[in-house]
Amino acid sequence: MIYKNIVCTLCGCLCDDIEVVTEGGRVADAKNACEFSKSKFLNHAKNRAKPIIKKNGELVEVPIEEALDEAAEVLKKADFPLIYGLSSTETDAQRLAVELAELIGASIDNTTSVCHGPTILATQDCGAAKCTLGEVKNRADLVIFWGCNPAEAHIRHATRYSITPRGLYTESGKRGREIVYMDVRETKTSKMADIFVKVKPGQDYELLSAFRAAVKGYDVGDAAGVPSETIKRLVDKMKSCKFGVIFFGLGLTMTGGRHMSINAALRLVRDLNDHTKFTIIPMRGHGNVSGSNDVMTWCTGYPYAVNFSKGYPVYNPGEFSAVDILARGECDAALIIASDPVAHFPAEASKHLARIPTIVIDPKVSLTSLIAKIVIPSAMAGIECDGTAYRMDGIPLRLSKVIDSEFLPDREILKKIIEKVKA
Ligand code: SF4
Repeated sequence: MIYKNIVCTLCGCLCDDIEVVTEGGRVADAKNACEFSKSKFLNHAKNRAKPIIKKNGELVEVPIEEALDEAAEVLKKADFPLIYGLSSTETDAQRLAVELAELIGASIDNTTSVCHGPTILATQDCGAAKCTLGEVKNRADLVIFWGCNPAEAHIRHATRYSITPRGLYTESGKRGREIVYMDVRETKTSKMADIFVKVKPGQDYELLSAFRAAVKGYDVGDAAGVPSETIKRLVDKMKSCKFGVIFFGLGLTMTGGRHMSINAALRLVRDLNDHTKFTIIPMRGHGNVSGSNDVMTWCTGYPYAVNFSKGYPVYNPGEFSAVDILARGECDAALIIASDPVAHFPAEASKHLARIPTIVIDPKVSLTSLIAKIVIPSAMAGIECDGTAYRMDGIPLRLSKVIDSEFLPDREILKKIIEKVKA
């Protein structure tokens, strides 16, 4: 079978032009896919998780219903359960995870709290002038990358949306666009840029403030190791372009200043709109991390770090974000869905996951599944089950099923756990 226009769910670009060829119940080829995506499609059947319960220190394979029963028991008994992950699954599963969190009075958090959490805090403070990736392709003549490296993390971003594609008002593609790259070091992306600006580590806030002052017509000195002439030259380019966009990543969100740096970037874009059309888009990493924010917002009013212990949603990043809850040793059970926190969290947080009964729902064996008490294997969203995912610019795209699977989708697993908890 050949399936056209399939969405790749690996990164926030959600490229929707993948041509998947299947043969004998396996993916045989994935045309148009980048190397990461190809690996995901072609290796979907490898390293699969099995239904497992840890009994007397031994990992024992069990029937799936037994793993589901045990998971429901653990969650029912917990005083302070934590539900975490969600950014690599589809929106129905995300919605049901919120329903389960409300039912058991849990804290629920998604991977935003360790990536673009500061972006959300800053956006709540001052708003953001955003646009779609389609608008970037069709209109942008000035593209600024700040603290991100799409050439290695979002491989097709440059060719589909931001650097080389020809659009309605950008017929000459790369020749009609100026690409500026701001980072603490040269990367593969800096080689694709027309201008590379080296920023001193941790001083993005100073540089963004200097840009804002220069946009307002003040004389500025050097900032973050960038000479004042370069700042003035860049500000002239920003003010005189027809359509500008800043793409920013964890090099801005997770360095000194955190949400205040993003706040300054959002306000810079707002100031630039007095002169021209300027927009800003966060480079979201996981395929549906944007969806986890949107779904949690339309279910609870808040995008991440939400607690239901009082029976209604309370939002407080830092108090109810997963890393903080785990590092303080507060939760007494955890349900991890489509995520691998042990691979990314600080050691203290991971150690607590190993101490408490942790339940993992995941298609693959992961570091977290190796320390879990219960493992529930699931179908892979976008390959083995359909659903919806949100692109980094907030556009929802429909995912397709291209392969039959013996495993249940995350949403069916969560539905069963909810029924068992209610029973
Ligand atoms: S750039 Fe991202 S979404 Fe596009 S094919 Fe590669 S991994 Fe998939």
